[in-house]
Amino acid sequence: MESVKKPRVRIVGEEKVRLKKSFVKPWLGIKYLFKKPVTIKIPFERIEPAPKYRGFHTLDWKKCIGCNFCGQICPARAIEMTWIEVDGKIEKRPHPKVDYGRCTFCQFCVDVCPTGALGHVENCYLTTSGLEEDLELYDWVPIDPKKVQELNEKFGDYRFPVERITFNKETKETTYYLRDGTEFRFKIIGYGLKPPAAARPKPAAKPAQKSAESSKKDESSKTEEKKG
Ligand code: SF4
Ligand code: SF4
Repeated sequence: MESVKKPRVRIVGEEKVRLKKSFVKPWLGIKYLFKKPVTIKIPFERIEPAPKYRGFHTLDWKKCIGCNFCGQICPARAIEMTWIEVDGKIEKRPHPKVDYGRCTFCQFCVDVCPTGALGHVENCYLTTSGLEEDLELYDWVPIDPKKVQELNEKFGDYRFPVERITFNKETKETTYYLRDGTEFRFKIIGYGLKPPAAARPKPAAKPAQKSAESSKKDESSKTEEKKG
């Protein structure tokens, strides 16, 4: 059998690496001053995304049945089922919340959604007129596709539909400031598939009334016994 020769690797110290000095190389970059830049000037310029480009998510809240198929298939574990309160009313089912710090935009979640509630738009520019930290996208609850479409028709630049996101620590309310000046307020009251205490139906009053009546009867029977 032939013996396999192992490659000999020698690590040399940084001080032994000699860089060749060149007077020409620094001047080679000058030619790029006269070339068209590959970047674009947002918001004055835009690039048309490819048809069906996998951009940001949308959600038709009425169609979403809270099945969590989207959360189960997500390879990046970017989806968390979320219980939401809007205008004092708690949604009957949980809805997905997407963490854009984890999402890889594979859109498996959109493909698997049985009701077609979860969708995506071609919007791909994550720029706003505000500060970057004003978009806390790890808590992105997708909004209605019709609203995003309306914003796209108005602005037509494929930027993120929300200008700013705020969270009120006292009221625990999140506000999305959309690009057309409208606001969307909601409160996240819990996570997971099981409804939080606030969303659970209150127990029926009848058994409590019955027990109260029976205790009254017991008391009256006791007093009658004493009288006897
Ligand atoms: S697009 Fe892919 S990574 Fe992003 S939330 Fe959906 S399934 Fe997860
Ligand atoms: S978005 Fe679709 S897959 Fe996800 S919970 Fe709603 S209905 Fe189910």
